[in-house]
Amino acid sequence: MSEEKIYTGSCLCGAIRYEIHGEIGEVIQCHCKRCRKANGTAFATNAPIKKADFKIVQGEHLLKKFASTPTTARCFCSECASPIISIKAETPDTYRLRIGTLDTPLEHKPVMHIFTAYKAEWDTICDSLPQYDERP
Ligand SMILES: [Zn+2]
Ligand SMILES: [Zn+2]
Repeated sequence: MSEEKIYTGSCLCGAIRYEIHGEIGEVIQCHCKRCRKANGTAFATNAPIKKADFKIVQGEHLLKKFASTPTTARCFCSECASPIISIKAETPDTYRLRIGTLDTPLEHKPVMHIFTAYKAEWDTICDSLPQYDERP
C-alpha cells in the first residue's frame, strides 16, 4: 500500500463527511464579494484539491449546489449551510475546498490574499502575505 495522505472533513451539523486522498494545494484567502456573501465573513479560505481525490463518505444526498455564476457551483450542506467546495466549469477536475471544514490538522498556511479590490471596508489585513486586486 502506498503512503497516501488522507484528510477528513465535515460540515457544521456533521451530516456530510468527506475524505481527501491526496494533497491539498495552496491555501488562498479570497475577499471577493461572492465568497463574502456565501460565508458571511470577511473572506473565504479556499484551497484546490483534485476531484479524483475527493470522496463524500456520508450525507452526499444533503450536498446542495448553487450556481453563483453561470460557471461556478458552490456546494454546501442543505441542513446546516456549511460551504464545502466550489466547482468551476473551466476546471472541472479541480475542486476548491473550504478548508474551515477540515477536521484533520493542515500543516500549510495561507500564501496570498486575492480579490482584495473587493474586500470588506471594515476588514484589515494584518499579515504580510502578497495581496492581489483580483486573481494573480
Ligand atoms: Zn451539515
Ligand atoms: Zn472568492
